Amino acid sequence: MKIGVLALQGDFREHLKAVHDCGEEGIEIRRTTELDDCDALIIPGGESTAIALLARTYDLFAPIQKRISDGMPTYGSCAGMILLADRVIDGAPGQETFGGMDMTVRRNAFGRQVDSFEATLSFASNSLNAVFIRAPWVEEIGQGVEVISSVTSASGVTHPVAVRQKHLLATSFHPELTHDLAVHRYFIDEVCK
Ligand code: GLN
Repeated sequence: MKIGVLALQGDFREHLKAVHDCGEEGIEIRRTTELDDCDALIIPGGESTAIALLARTYDLFAPIQKRISDGMPTYGSCAGMILLADRVIDGAPGQETFGGMDMTVRRNAFGRQVDSFEATLSFASNSLNAVFIRAPWVEEIGQGVEVISSVTSASGVTHPVAVRQKHLLATSFHPELTHDLAVHRYFIDEVCK
C-alpha cells in the first residue's frame, strides 16, 4: 500500500516518518500524478488556509476532493482535520475545505491562553500523550461520525478531538510530533485495510 502525504505546507515530513516507522511506503504528494499513484492520503498539520490555497494553485483541490468522495482512506491531523470537515466555524473569509466528514469544526478553538498544550487521551484502547497546537475541536457531528477521543476544555465542556466517518479519520492533535505510532497504526490497520 502506498500512503501519500500532502506535501504543500505543514509537518508532512513528520507524517512520512511515522508512515515509514509503521513499515509502509509513504510518498510526498504535490502533483496529480502522485495522487493517482497512492492508495491513501494523509493531510498534515500546518495552516489550513495555506494548504487549501496551495492545493488550488497546484491543481490538486478538485482531484483530492474527488478521491475523498470516491472512498480513498484519508487521515487529517489538526489543519488536516479542518480540511476534512464539511463545515468550519471561525474560518478565514472564504476558507475552503475538501470536506467529506459530516461535522462542524471550530478553528483555533482552544483559545489564545492555551494555544499549545498536551493531554493524555484514550484512543482506541491506547493511552497516548496528545500535542495540541492552535488546534480545532469538533463542535457538532452528523449521525455517521464516530467519536474516538474527547477532551474537556477550560470552560468544562467536552469536545471530540478524534473522529472517524467510514474511510475518513481526523484528529485535532498531532501524533506525528510524538513517537507514539498508535494513531498512524489505527489509520493503516483499521481505516485503510
Ligand atoms: N490553526 C491552524 C489552522 O487553522 C491549524 C494548526 C495546526 O495544524 N497546528 O489551520
